[in-house]
Amino acid sequence: MINDIYNSLGISNEVVDFCEKILNNLKNRFEEFDKVAEYNQMKVIKAMQQEKVSDVHFAATTGYGYNDLGRDTLENVYARVFNTEAALVRPQLVCGTHALAVALSSNLRPGDELLSISGKPYDTLEEVIGIRDSKGSLKEYGVSYNQVDLLSDGSFDKEGIKNAINEKTKLIAIQRSKGYATRKTLSVAEIGDVIKFVKSINPKLIVMVDNCYGEFVETIEPSDFGADMVVGSLIKNPGGGLAPIGGYICGTNECIENAAYRLTTPGLGKEVGATLGISQSLYQGLFLAPTVVSGALKGAVFAANVYEKLGFKVVPNGSESRHDIIQAVEFGTPEGLIEFCKGIQAAAPVDSFVTPEPWAMPGYDADVIMAAGAFVQGSSIELSADGPLKEPYAAYFQGGLTWYHAKLGIMMSLQKLLNADIVKLS
Ligand SMILES: *Cc1c(COP(=O)(O)O)cnc(C)c1O
Repeated sequence: MINDIYNSLGISNEVVDFCEKILNNLKNRFEEFDKVAEYNQMKVIKAMQQEKVSDVHFAATTGYGYNDLGRDTLENVYARVFNTEAALVRPQLVCGTHALAVALSSNLRPGDELLSISGKPYDTLEEVIGIRDSKGSLKEYGVSYNQVDLLSDGSFDKEGIKNAINEKTKLIAIQRSKGYATRKTLSVAEIGDVIKFVKSINPKLIVMVDNCYGEFVETIEPSDFGADMVVGSLIKNPGGGLAPIGGYICGTNECIENAAYRLTTPGLGKEVGATLGISQSLYQGLFLAPTVVSGALKGAVFAANVYEKLGFKVVPNGSESRHDIIQAVEFGTPEGLIEFCKGIQAAAPVDSFVTPEPWAMPGYDADVIMAAGAFVQGSSIELSADGPLKEPYAAYFQGGLTWYHAKLGIMMSLQKLLNADIVKLS
């Protein structure tokens, strides 16, 4: 029966059987993800109970948004979940890049130096920092930048970090997830260890973690281990697929006050910012996020094992522990990457009939192909795949609001590669 419904969606028995064999070996991994989800679900419920979340918090505000109880309480809930003094969780933070830009520009002053210790930051931050010249970059405002690459085994280069820290260094940036690189994703334990190291050199250094794609993958977050700020997007993990927009910055009172003064204005800070009726989605999305993330992790591990079996390089590999929801598959050819993305698109509940094409997306230095059939535009907690059209032609696969949808996406991608004679299953 299950084969019949898959056949009717265009998946052959050959693909279904191949995938079922792989899944049979993943039961223990899936059980681990369920346990993490259970813990994180309790963490979120507990925070909501402690903040006495009630339906009054779902009311819309307009205009200035003074005394928006729903907004202020949601920020308290986030602060509890991430174990920080304060939080800024707003629809006015329009995406992850914006949240990161606000966190950085509000806590750095002319003459300060920003030091990235996890190598080159995510592509869209290059213009924020001024690694690629851009109007209004930190560089234009007199903030200098330096970076220390990860060692070849993917760990922090402590010697290099120590040497790079100087009297100008004010803020240390760490990116948890690999983003568009094929390095390892950092575990919270590794991040915690390096935070301790950095603080032992100078306790006044501000440590900011780009937490995108990492939330709820583990039972702990970098802010449990001394990060002064963790920053991310609500159309990724913590929005649970329901948040229609938004970003968050959780951190110390000092860092969050700076961020709020930058996001709105000096003086106004957190006091303004209407929520226009989306608060309920932000609460409900956070409530669902632990389960959604576990489904996305199942999809990622399934994809890793399918494509590893077929001889492609996958990062992380099929048996590695997981620290974010992204799965990279290196196809080595543009055709492989494109067919993979076509499969993800064809499996979507929304826009399944369109064909993804590479395009020059703002903020990226190579053409990018993106597959997504999302309820929320650009949401990458929903099943999506993308990758820059450059060596090693890696597809970055992530999300899935339900495990079964992620599974269909992978099966459909495999079918496309099989139909294009790029892979053989026997
Ligand atoms: C997605 C992402 C960003 C940027 O977030 P947007 O919402 O796309 O602007 C930054 N860093 C990492 C690691 C990301 O994955």
